[in-house]
Amino acid sequence: MFSFKNYIAVTSLEEAYDELLKNKKNIILGGTSYLRMGNVAYNTAIDLSNLELDYIKEGETCIHIGAMASFRDLEINEITQQLFDGVLDRCVRGILGVQFRSNVRVGATVFSKYGFSDLIPTLLAMDSTVVLYKGGEISLEEYLKEESLRRDILVEIKIKKEGRGSFQSIRKSKTDYAITNTCVTKIDDKIRVAIGVRPGKAVLSYRAMEILNNNERTEEIIDRACEAMSEEISFGSNMRGTAEYRRAVSKNLVKRAIQEVL
Ligand SMILES: Cc1cc2nc3c(=O)[nH]c(=O)nc-3n(C[C@H](O)[C@H](O)[C@H](O)COP(=O)(O)OP(=O)(O)OC[C@H]3O[C@@H](n4cnc5c(N)ncnc54)[C@H](O)[C@@H]3O)c2cc1C
Repeated sequence: MFSFKNYIAVTSLEEAYDELLKNKKNIILGGTSYLRMGNVAYNTAIDLSNLELDYIKEGETCIHIGAMASFRDLEINEITQQLFDGVLDRCVRGILGVQFRSNVRVGATVFSKYGFSDLIPTLLAMDSTVVLYKGGEISLEEYLKEESLRRDILVEIKIKKEGRGSFQSIRKSKTDYAITNTCVTKIDDKIRVAIGVRPGKAVLSYRAMEILNNNERTEEIIDRACEAMSEEISFGSNMRGTAEYRRAVSKNLVKRAIQEVL
């Protein structure tokens, strides 16, 4: 269980950011499910609950998801249920129980770039952008490529409105972390292929996308794209699966996902 000396429920993002910079041991609180797994003593815990960042709303060109929206919100909100064939709902609905999903937050998850995440590869395939308080707007693709975590606050995620999507994953048991997962989307007839739980953080398969976006999408081309993905992406081994197993399964998951979005 983590602990902290001081607690502050801020009334603005500016106040939260100023507080964050005051001490290396100051932290932003999301739903605290992940923080509670650690045993760290923090200085000040900064609570964003009063900032009304738990929204999911439709703008002119994008859907805006506030940092404090929960996984449960992604499941039950009418906007996200319709977006990309409901892929946000489908990628989170298998994670533990409703109580857990009502607590964990989108902003905490994306900011932390968890390698085991089901949500991050999905947002990556959806070509999302992240809005950081200090860092401004940056594509999730670029954000994930940064090796270290910024000292910043994730404010919202922006997703383009139109597209198709398919999320696929494999788990040893229903409530376990995924062994590997994938999300494939089609936006303006362009396919994006994201691979998660390699078990490292999610990445795009540029070679698979190149093949799929420059050829007629026959079965042979789809197979070629899946093969190219498996050669391009680096998979690793851990207690849930070997690199070889992940690579073999991923090819099938990606193929299924491509077929679903075509
Ligand atoms: C037991 C368990 C099982 C899980 N299983 C899965 C699974 O199968 N699939 C899956 O995808 N995920 C899984 N998760 C991860 C979960 O879905 C969340 O991604 C995770 O708990 C983080 O969300 P949180 O709200 O609990 O964050 P917190 O624990 O509150 O915070 C996590 C980190 O993010 C920082 N932070 C919080 N909000 C912000 C912000 N707005 N800006 C910047 N930094 C911020 C915090 O300071 C902290 O460092 C699991 C987590 C647990 C604890």
